[in-house]
Amino acid sequence: MQTSAKGLPAGYIGRFAPSPTGPLHAGSLVAALASWLDAQAHGGQWLVRIEDIDTPRCVPGADALILQQLAACGLLPDAPPLYQSQRSAAYQAALDALIGKQLAYPCGCTRQDIALALAEAGQPKARHGELVYPGTCRHGLGGRPARARRFQTGNIEQNWPPAHAGHGKVAINLIANLGLDWQDRRLGSQHQDVAQTVGDFVLQRADGLWAYQLAVVVDDGAQGISDVVRGEDLADNTARQILLQRALGLPTPRYLHVPLVRGADGDKLSKQNGAQPLDTGAPLASLNATARLLGLQVAAGGGVGDWLAQAVQQWAALYPPSVNTRP
Ligand code: GLU
Repeated sequence: MQTSAKGLPAGYIGRFAPSPTGPLHAGSLVAALASWLDAQAHGGQWLVRIEDIDTPRCVPGADALILQQLAACGLLPDAPPLYQSQRSAAYQAALDALIGKQLAYPCGCTRQDIALALAEAGQPKARHGELVYPGTCRHGLGGRPARARRFQTGNIEQNWPPAHAGHGKVAINLIANLGLDWQDRRLGSQHQDVAQTVGDFVLQRADGLWAYQLAVVVDDGAQGISDVVRGEDLADNTARQILLQRALGLPTPRYLHVPLVRGADGDKLSKQNGAQPLDTGAPLASLNATARLLGLQVAAGGGVGDWLAQAVQQWAALYPPSVNTRP
């Protein structure tokens, strides 16, 4: 049997996957602490993955700072962090496999093209500020002829391979998937019709950057992640990620989406709405505030180690660990 770094069966592997766009703050600590607690409650491994694929948004040195802040809170990964910026070959292999299976195709649409196609079809323009992709390039790169065929369904083999297969922007084709049900350990049964509510989605951007959906699915698979514990703002991505896992033949982890810390404007706390970097000199104050949001009431006193040990007990009572961590 495969064993973990702690010599335990490698049944549970969790992760915290920060984007290094700035230091850890009260909002990002929630996902860090919750994912760490869940891993400890299961006697499993906890990994950190630095999601530095959106290079223009990354802040140099933020990764090291985040790791220091985690360490000050006693949250130490069981293996050296994985950097997504070093994973291009794996993302390319996954993309090639999807194209080979005719599940992904090049797309030449601009946002304006998509808005125009939707307006012409009298369809609502956006959901969560995102345009629902109408499938314009599914049967060959876009432009007017393809727009005219945009609502045709059918066998993409007839038009395969597309005329400009070298084009950078690639979207996954979801014609085979209408509705998807999944379970969240906190939110319960979830349903999303990806084809209707999102449409085909981008895996590699026109500028060559890898999309979050592809990178997260490839890496969760490569790292053997059994359990994803993250903020509930990401719950809406889960159906897309499960579709991608299926398309790539990867197992689906269990999911638990935790509450968000909100800023004064009611939005998710971020640098933009006033989040302050977590103070490494006073980790217990930050941990206590985060614990309250997670429904834990850890008694003050003692050091970080004692605090964490109590928190693990309480977490295990809230979210009882299961023996079989895969759905
Ligand atoms: N990198 C993402 C973020 O910082 C998290 C991705 C995930 O947990 O799936 O919001």
